[in-house]
This record gives sequence, structure tokens and C-alpha cells, in this order.
Amino acid sequence: MKAPPFAYARARSLSEVFDLLERHGDAAKILAGGQSLMPALNMRLSSPELLIDISRLGEHAGIQVKNGHVHIGALTTHSYIGESADIRKHLPLLTDAALHIAHPAIRNSGTFGGSLALADPAAEWPACCVALDAQIVLASKSGTRRVAAREFFQGLYATAMKPGEVLTEVAIPIPGAGYRHAFLELARRRGDYAMVGVAALAKVVNGAFTDVRLTYLGASEKPVLATKTSQVFVFKGFSENSLKEAQQMLAEELSPSADLYTSAATKLHLAGVLTARAMQQLAA
Ligand SMILES: Cc1cc2nc3c(=O)[nH]c(=O)nc-3n(C[C@H](O)[C@H](O)[C@H](O)COP(=O)(O)OP(=O)(O)OC[C@H]3O[C@@H](n4cnc5c(N)ncnc54)[C@H](O)[C@@H]3O)c2cc1C
Repeated sequence: MKAPPFAYARARSLSEVFDLLERHGDAAKILAGGQSLMPALNMRLSSPELLIDISRLGEHAGIQVKNGHVHIGALTTHSYIGESADIRKHLPLLTDAALHIAHPAIRNSGTFGGSLALADPAAEWPACCVALDAQIVLASKSGTRRVAAREFFQGLYATAMKPGEVLTEVAIPIPGAGYRHAFLELARRRGDYAMVGVAALAKVVNGAFTDVRLTYLGASEKPVLATKTSQVFVFKGFSENSLKEAQQMLAEELSPSADLYTSAATKLHLAGVLTARAMQQLAA
């Protein structure tokens, strides 16, 4: 299928984007990498009158490390993040997650900001941002504001972004010494969206877990930081018994929906399997 007709504007500055958003309201949509929006248009799932192309706003692409944070510009592509030495050094969870996103052609165009703004519950970046306690920077005509990733994702394809706002950057605190990570997901074929996945971070001090953050993707309408499940390992360490208890706890914290191929019960079971694998990796 082909997209319905639309007007196109290539923005040369953020203020031009703000003006266009103000003038056209809901009838306008921001176009970044186009890897989700263009298929949605072609399938007639969305029919904006105007696409505002922000892909040439180069100042909003790239990675900077300063003041204990990694700042990732909204227009940074999935590939760039996956190949970045700074990311590998400071946020290796993202390096591991990048390889699970679609295929190289999509990773070369799709952007970090586009993925977060879309808020697909099975996407990798939203879960990583929640696990890493990232701050999402939103800009509009009236200034900028920061929203914690844990507040930003509000439901199925729903975020805290307000009309007129553009996601410009994400600031991620660099985990201190002693933090370990694991990123695991199960997909029907390599490159498919995950059936279920986990972005895991844990601090280990003298062999004991002092902070565990198990964040699940594809297991609810938004990424879920399963705090009670994570706490089991802080209080009881990693053993067969604590794992069993944590897997039971997961049923309280996750609410997966069935899709065409996988029932909700199977997804919950798979989340438990991934929990075991992630914890083995973190404890090793
Ligand atoms: C076959 C296929 C497989 C895929 N598999 C995966 C996968 O496994 N995991 C995964 O995470 N993704 C997957 N994707 C999606 C891909 O990662 C997209 O690149 C990403 O979701 C959206 O980024 P984009 O830059 O392409 O955004 P676009 O498609 O340009 O935009 C997506 C949405 O976000 C809005 N938007 C974009 N940027 C901003 C911004 N800066 N501020 C405010 N709003 C903005 C747009 O208006 C639009 O509503 C897949 C896509 C395809 C086609």
C-alpha cells in the first residue's frame, strides 16, 4: 500500500519545528528516521497532513560524556549507539541491546529519540532507559523540561510528551563501580520485535547484590521495572529458592497481552526463563 497524500517540510532549526507544530497541531507529525512512521503511513495506520522532517538537525545527533552522564542526542541512530566506544565503556547494556533492534538497514536510519517517542512496549531502548534511570529532555516553544524515563512511558504507545514538544536528548547517569548488566530477549526470528525481553542492571558488593533492576519489555503495555521481583535477589541473594520466589512475584508485576503467536501465560513463563538467565549472568 502507499501512504495517503501529505505535505512535507524539512526543518532547518528547532524553532522552525516549534512554529510548524503550533500552526498545524495534531495534523502534523515529526519524521526522524522514518522506520516506524513510514510503514505506519503506508499501512494507513496514520494519516498526518504534514510531515516535519527533523533528520537534518545534526546538532541533535551524537553522544557526549560529561558530569557523570552520557548524553545521547535524539537523532543518534541505533547503529551509532551500537558501535560507540563511549557507550561500550560507560553503558554496555545499550551496546548489547542495539544488536537486537531489527536489521542493519533499519538500525542505520532509526533513531534513539524516535524509538522512545514511539514507545512500543516491545522496543529495546525504552526498557534500557528505565533500567538505567535515564532523564528524557523535551523541548518546546516555552523551554525545556526533563522527565524521568520511569514516568515518561505511560502506556501502549503513550508517553508524557505534550503537544508541541520535541524529544531532543536523553541524559543517562553512568552506573558506578560494581554494576553489572545483562540484556536478553526472545524473538521468533532474529531482528523481529521481542516476544519478551529483560534489561538488567545489578550492583554487586562483596559478592552480594545491593541494587537489582530487572526491567521487562514486551511483557506489559510499557516497560516495567519489576521492583518487588528485583528486591528478592537483594534480600535473599541468587539461589534456586530465591529464583522460584522471584518468578512467582513476576506474575504480580507483569501483565503481558497475548499476540497472534504467543499467549499471555507463555510470555509470563518466558519472562521467568529470562529472569533466571539474566540473574545467572549477573551473578557469574
Ligand atoms: C521491520 C522492522 C523491524 C523493527 N524492529 C524493531 C525492533 O526489534 N526493536 C525496536 O525497538 N524497533 C524496531 N523497529 C522500529 C525502529 O527501531 C524505528 O527506527 C524506531 O522505532 C523509530 O525511530 P525512527 O527514528 O525511525 O522514528 P520515526 O519512524 O521517524 O518516528 C516514530 C514516531 O516517533 C515520533 N518522533 C520521532 N522522533 C521524535 C522526536 N525527536 N521527538 C518527538 N517525536 C518524535 C514520530 O512523530 C513518530 O510518531 C522496527 C522497524 C521495522 C520497519
